[in-house]
Amino acid sequence: MIINGGDNLTKETIKILRVAIYLRLSDEDRNKANANDDSESIKNQRNLLMGEVNKHEDWIIYDEYCDEDLSGAGTYRPEFERLIEDCENGKIDIVLCKSQSRFSRDMEVIEKYLHNKFIEWNVRFLSFTDNADTNNLGNKKSRQINGLVNEWYLEDLSNNIKAAFDVKMKNGEFISPFASYGYIVNPKNNNELIIDEEVKENVKEIFNLYLIGYGYQAIAKQLNERKIPCPSLYKHLKGYKLNVISSRNIEDIKWSHNAIKTILTNEIYIGNLIQGKRTTVSYKNKKIVKKSKNRWVRIQNAHEPIIDMNTWNGVQAKIMNNSRACTKTGMVHIFSGKVYCLECGHYLKKNCTQKHEYLVCTSTRNGYDDCINKLSIRFDFLENLILEEINKIFSKYYDIEKLKKGSLNSFKSNYQGKIDSLIKEKKLLMRKKENKEKYLKTLYKDRVDGIISVKEFTTLQADYLKSDDKFDELIDDIDKKIEVLKSKDSIKRNNQSIFEKYKKIDKLNKIIVDEFIDRIEIGSLNKETSGRNITIKWNFNI
Ligand SMILES: [Zn+2]
Repeated sequence: MIINGGDNLTKETIKILRVAIYLRLSDEDRNKANANDDSESIKNQRNLLMGEVNKHEDWIIYDEYCDEDLSGAGTYRPEFERLIEDCENGKIDIVLCKSQSRFSRDMEVIEKYLHNKFIEWNVRFLSFTDNADTNNLGNKKSRQINGLVNEWYLEDLSNNIKAAFDVKMKNGEFISPFASYGYIVNPKNNNELIIDEEVKENVKEIFNLYLIGYGYQAIAKQLNERKIPCPSLYKHLKGYKLNVISSRNIEDIKWSHNAIKTILTNEIYIGNLIQGKRTTVSYKNKKIVKKSKNRWVRIQNAHEPIIDMNTWNGVQAKIMNNSRACTKTGMVHIFSGKVYCLECGHYLKKNCTQKHEYLVCTSTRNGYDDCINKLSIRFDFLENLILEEINKIFSKYYDIEKLKKGSLNSFKSNYQGKIDSLIKEKKLLMRKKENKEKYLKTLYKDRVDGIISVKEFTTLQADYLKSDDKFDELIDDIDKKIEVLKSKDSIKRNNQSIFEKYKKIDKLNKIIVDEFIDRIEIGSLNKETSGRNITIKWNFNI
């Protein structure tokens, strides 16, 4: 290629020109149809540009600037920044690139530097494959068109990659390079998860420990004491390279409160594959944003579950009840989330003294002091009372035939009505959302037909997108409520099997309390009679 001589290259001026060569290898290059095509590799770019420099006796290399693995859109490119700085400081006469798109695919950047700043700083821009030369004035139109095409290309590419991933996700294919703890990517099929037999039992144990009353922290502590590697350490030991590991001491990488919580709430363990939780803002802005829950791609029965539905529902109901573990023992007490004040409706919190444990209304503890129910109730007293009541029910009702009849009654659970009305509400919101989407399509067509201006379009579209997010939030909320009610409902429906499981109970535990009792309400102490009102709301009709 012959580069046209510019002002600086006339025979009269024998001036040495300092050339900066800019190289960039990008993500796009890795997605080529032919993996062996390395025409874009750094080595090739360098050879090509060095060859060009050597053709000119008055050119010397000032420096090489090389950004590897960085996108051509407006993201941070450290070497690019250094190049611009050197140009501004008058250290460079020519910037040489393989093509204009290597320099940038962003029209704004092209406009800013090639058409403004470089002219101001007396820097000439030359590119090899598309013949861009800022000294050639007639070249400007083609540079602009090139820039525009490059920008479209990048936007298309980004959308195509997203679309391809979307299709894979909707087909239930696993697209992440890492599987969640308890699973591995099937070596025979990259898009499928199979159970990791080596740690499967650990996952089961975490769920079981939580069910019998251990809190997140207590479970983490137990696993750490038994020197069971936490998920990130386990991956590291298996030879995966993880950024979180490299900078830390192996001994410091332990199970945490959060790691346990993440496992207990991950639907992957009941066979559901949930992907597409996050996305990037646009091809130019790589900021990661969370998508609202109803936009996630959820595929049920995508792989073999580790946790059965009963265990899962029990754990979720407990998490929703916001059970708090005692700071001293790390255990959730057996009545956690169940005991409320009959007078004011606040929940009762457990208090420990050296001799005994008590439950007391939280509204008096928080300083409001507006509840008449000031005196606490002894924990062991309540425990005995509940145990007695449960065993009374047994002796009275333990008759399977009678239970079968009775269960018909209890099936008319009041939860189902609530669930139905929530589903109605959700449908209404979905319909409203759909109408909005139709509106957007009309808007888009109006724009294409030239009925509205670009400015009008962007304003109206922005309005639409804002309200769209609100719909998603509302729908999310409803989904959460439905989930809680469903798990409560399933506990209720199972009441026949509850009776079959326990014939007589010697000691209460959290599982029994959760299965039998919906709510306990404690009234204030009558000082004359030393009695107090206690109501038990059972999970079934008696
Ligand atoms: Zn109270």
